[in-house]
Amino acid sequence: MKKNYINGRYGLDSFSKFLLIASAVLVLIKSYPAAVVFAGYGIFRILSKDFQKRQREEMGYKNFVGTLKYRLSGLSYKISKKLNWGIFDRIKSSYNKALRKAAHNKNYKIVKCPQCKQKLRLPKNKGNLVVTCKTCKHEFKKRT
Ligand SMILES: [Zn+2]
Repeated sequence: MKKNYINGRYGLDSFSKFLLIASAVLVLIKSYPAAVVFAGYGIFRILSKDFQKRQREEMGYKNFVGTLKYRLSGLSYKISKKLNWGIFDRIKSSYNKALRKAAHNKNYKIVKCPQCKQKLRLPKNKGNLVVTCKTCKHEFKKRT
């Protein structure tokens, strides 16, 4: 709690800082009347000589921010926990499934039987194979 007691004025504290920053944000979003109120109150607090009231406001502000931070951290924890369970786990499992499938398919070649057009799965990179169709028992040579 650094205080600026110049000329018996209360000076800048974190609540006034918040008010001034808020007014700048309000200017950015073109909310001018609210910006004037926030800036006016901030400047009033900085120049105020009523230390007790200003300190009470500062305490109230800090309590408010503390509570808000606490609630927000609890909320973001809950949300991230839910997201982890829901979306991230689903993405992970479908990604793993795709990887497994790709690794599986990599070792096989799909060929069609020239006679009955049945799709057959052959092991890859085995050179010339004599394939017997499992449906029509037709034999044919295939390079894999
Ligand atoms: Zn066949």
